[in-house]
Amino acid sequence: MAASEWELVVGLEVHAHLKTRTKMFCRCALEYGARENTHTCPVCLAHPGALPVPNGKAVEHTILLGLALGCEIAERAEFARKNYFYPDLPKGYQISQYESPLCGPGRFALPGGDRVVGIVRAHLEEDAAKTVHAGGATGRSVGAHSSLVDFNRGGTPLLEIVTEPDLRSAEEAMWFLRLLRQTIVELGISDAEMEKGTLRADVNVSVRRRGEEGYRPRWEIKNMNSFTFIGRAIEAAFRQQVAAHEAGEELEQSTYDYDPDTDRLTVHRSKEEADDYRYFPEPDLVPVAPPAELVERLRGELPELPGARIERLTAQLDRDAATELVTTGNEWKAEALAAEGVEWRAAHALAMNRGDFLPENAAALARIVGANVTREALDEAFAAAATGPIEAETYLAQTAVSDESALEPVIDAVLAANPGQVETYRGGKEGVLGFFVGQVMRETGGKADPKVVNRLLLAKLRG
Ligand code: ADP
Ligand code: MG
Ligand code: ZN
Repeated sequence: MAASEWELVVGLEVHAHLKTRTKMFCRCALEYGARENTHTCPVCLAHPGALPVPNGKAVEHTILLGLALGCEIAERAEFARKNYFYPDLPKGYQISQYESPLCGPGRFALPGGDRVVGIVRAHLEEDAAKTVHAGGATGRSVGAHSSLVDFNRGGTPLLEIVTEPDLRSAEEAMWFLRLLRQTIVELGISDAEMEKGTLRADVNVSVRRRGEEGYRPRWEIKNMNSFTFIGRAIEAAFRQQVAAHEAGEELEQSTYDYDPDTDRLTVHRSKEEADDYRYFPEPDLVPVAPPAELVERLRGELPELPGARIERLTAQLDRDAATELVTTGNEWKAEALAAEGVEWRAAHALAMNRGDFLPENAAALARIVGANVTREALDEAFAAAATGPIEAETYLAQTAVSDESALEPVIDAVLAANPGQVETYRGGKEGVLGFFVGQVMRETGGKADPKVVNRLLLAKLRG
């Protein structure tokens, strides 16, 4: 059976460090990169008798995100103890939420309207401390002579978002994650930086035959902190699971590790049953009961969300280009240029490839872009537009050479000087065109009109 007859099923559990001044249940400051064990107290070190007090800002941040994900907000949410033993968990349990999370269920529509991702829940918990392995290979426990614990991170407010298994391709899962990350960042509730570990995801993957009801056992890939590796791990899980099912193997639900070097998943350890954590309501904390007025105030504070803006931009651009603008913070540049008459595809390219400019320069830039100026003049205009007001007239005088009779000899010379490349182009590698354009630009000191150069080159190469 071909791989295309199998369908991918992905569900995500995403963790984001909340951007609060202090920890989740004590008043220790949160400071990324601070000297080890300088932000600790009896509460986050679990001294006997120390009592937790919830961070109100973290509760508000969680509600804000819940609203952005279309979640119901609980009138009464409970904290619960999740019990397990680990050196970085001094209490012997993590305070989390179990039976009654602050947010959920919800529905998050991906722009374009063809997929709604169910949100199981979004809840609050605290992060564990950090174990640092000394003396071994880079941070690994294998070969280390000792393991040290940095309690600064212990008790950091963590937001956990759990989706339904509604994502159907690696691409879609990564797109959802990008949108979620952008939403979190724009709400100002977390920096959500994978490289810094302030955003991490557990990725659950299974496959089933197209048209099949229900789901098969899933593999869980924990603590992924790179978009690229998440995509590759999902693809690898798909290949390995399809091969296993086709060989008639019974798959088990387990935790897997992704090895980027071999591009394969290897089994980590079998998944603990939820019961192993012996969850029970946290006796030291009263339930969180967010007042309706607070929820309504937060709802009123929600800005237009990235998903909605991408949806709007897809009237002008394809989905990937729109997402790229929104998730890189370049969208205002494309909008400013387009509002002044620059065609949207060109506005997208300029917004992505040129530096920032003062918004007041958008009209002048649009005039310059629309005119037949040299590439040098365009470079100069964008450079100047970043630091002060510019006048279009300064640049409009430097017009590009679009006179065919002036450009033809240059083009002929470039083609004659590169017979190998000409053959490569004619052999089907049309990407070589860029090389020829570059050569002509170099010969003309950037003064040739690229539109005319392209047209003449194509005519000669195809002729
Ligand atoms: P647990 O409580 O054991 O972590 P959940 O049922 O809450 O299990 O699911 C955890 C995550 O796994 C969710 O994101 C969910 O969407 C995903 N998931 C559950 N079943 C599957 C499956 N068969 N295939 C892929 N993902 C799944
Ligand atoms: Mg889980
Ligand atoms: Zn503390």
